[in-house]
Amino acid sequence: MSNQETIKAFAVHEAGGKFEPYTYEVGELAPGDVEIDVLYCGICHSDLSMVNNEWGISEYPLVAGHEVVGKIAKVGSAVESLKLGQSVGLGWHSGYCGHCAPCRTGDQNLCSQAQATIVAHHGGFAEKVRAQASSVVEVPEGLDLKSAGPLFCGGITVFNPLVQFDVKPTDKVAVIGIGGLGHIALQFLNAWGCEVTAFTSSESKQDEAIELGAHKTLNSRDPKELEEAAGSFDFIISTVNVKLDWDLYISTLKPKGRLHFVGATLDPLDVAVFPLIMGQRSVSGSPVGSPATISKMLEFASLHDIAPKVEMFPMSKINEAFDRLRSGNARYRVVLSNESID
Ligand code: NAP
Ligand code: ZN
Ligand code: ZN
Repeated sequence: MSNQETIKAFAVHEAGGKFEPYTYEVGELAPGDVEIDVLYCGICHSDLSMVNNEWGISEYPLVAGHEVVGKIAKVGSAVESLKLGQSVGLGWHSGYCGHCAPCRTGDQNLCSQAQATIVAHHGGFAEKVRAQASSVVEVPEGLDLKSAGPLFCGGITVFNPLVQFDVKPTDKVAVIGIGGLGHIALQFLNAWGCEVTAFTSSESKQDEAIELGAHKTLNSRDPKELEEAAGSFDFIISTVNVKLDWDLYISTLKPKGRLHFVGATLDPLDVAVFPLIMGQRSVSGSPVGSPATISKMLEFASLHDIAPKVEMFPMSKINEAFDRLRSGNARYRVVLSNESID
C-alpha cells in the first residue's frame, strides 16, 4: 500500500453529466510508462462525444482530455526516450501493443490493441496523466506550449491524411467544417502549398477562414454552391460530425479525387456507386496519426508558424469550458490550463 499515490482530476459520473473534482489512486509506475504534469489540455469534440457516451464506449467515472501538453514528472525504470522536466504532448493514444504488424511498421495509430487515453484510462483533465512512453511526443522548442495541445489530436488528425495520401502542393483541397480540426487543416494545407477551400456553415467564419489560409469559402449546406463547384477538388477532408449530402460532395471531386472522413459522423454513408466507378473516386477515413507523424507535424508547425487558435479557461472552470464548446462559438479550440491565466 505504500506505493499508493493519488491523482486529482475532473470526472463525469454519468452520460451527459457535469465534471466534478475526482481523485483516483495509482500504483507504482509501470517500467515503460511516464507520468506527465499537465500544464494545458485542449477540449476536442471527441471529449464531448465521450462525456455523452455517443459512441457507446464510455466508462464512468470518465476523466476525459486527450490534447495534453505538460512536463515529464516521472519516468518508469525502462524508459530511455524521455527525461524529467521535458516538455511533451499526449494525444488520443496512450499506449500501443508494440508487436502487431501496424506497430512494427510505424502505423501504431492503426494498432487494434492501442490504449485510448480516455477509454478505460484516465486522461488529461487532471493534474497528472500517465501513459506509455512510446505514445508521448516531445514538443520542439519554439512551439508555444499554451496552444500546442490541440495539435496532439485535432492537428495530427488533419495532418496525417496529407502524408498518408501524398497530397501534392498542386492539389486543390477542401476542408468541410471549420472548427477545432478544420481551422488547423486550413493552416497546414496553405503551408503545404495547396489551393484551399473552406466549407463552412457559419457565415461569421468566412473571413476568418481566409485569414487562416483558405483561398475561398463556400457554404457547406448550400446545394447551389456545391453544384457550382462540380469537379473542382483533388481531396476533401470532412471534419463535421453530422450528415451532409455526400453525393453532392463527391460530385465536387475531380476524377481520382478522394473524400476523406475524419469527423466522426454516426449516420452511415449512403453514396451512389457510379460516380465513384466512373471517376475512379475514393471514400476513406483515418484515426489521428503515429508518434513519428506527430513529430513530423510538430516540426512542420514550428517551421511555418502554425498554431491552433485557442480560448483559455482555468481547469477549475471545466464545465463552463464545455458549455463554450457546445455553443459552437469557440474560436477555435477551448484549452484548459492548470497555470493561472492572465
Ligand atoms: P468542433 O470544433 O465542434 O468542429 C466541428 C465543426 O463542424 C463545427 O465547427 C462546424 O463548422 C461544423 N458543423 C457542426 N455542426 C454542423 C452542422 N449541423 N452542419 C454543418 N456543419 C456543422 O469539433 P472538432 O473537435 O473539430 O471535431 C470534429 C469531429 O472530428 C468530431 O466528430 C470528432 O469526434 C472527430 N475527431 C476525429 C478524430 C479522428 O481520429 N478521426 C480525431 C479528433 C476528432 P462550421 O461552423 O465551419 O460549419
Ligand atoms: Zn500494435
Ligand atoms: Zn480528439
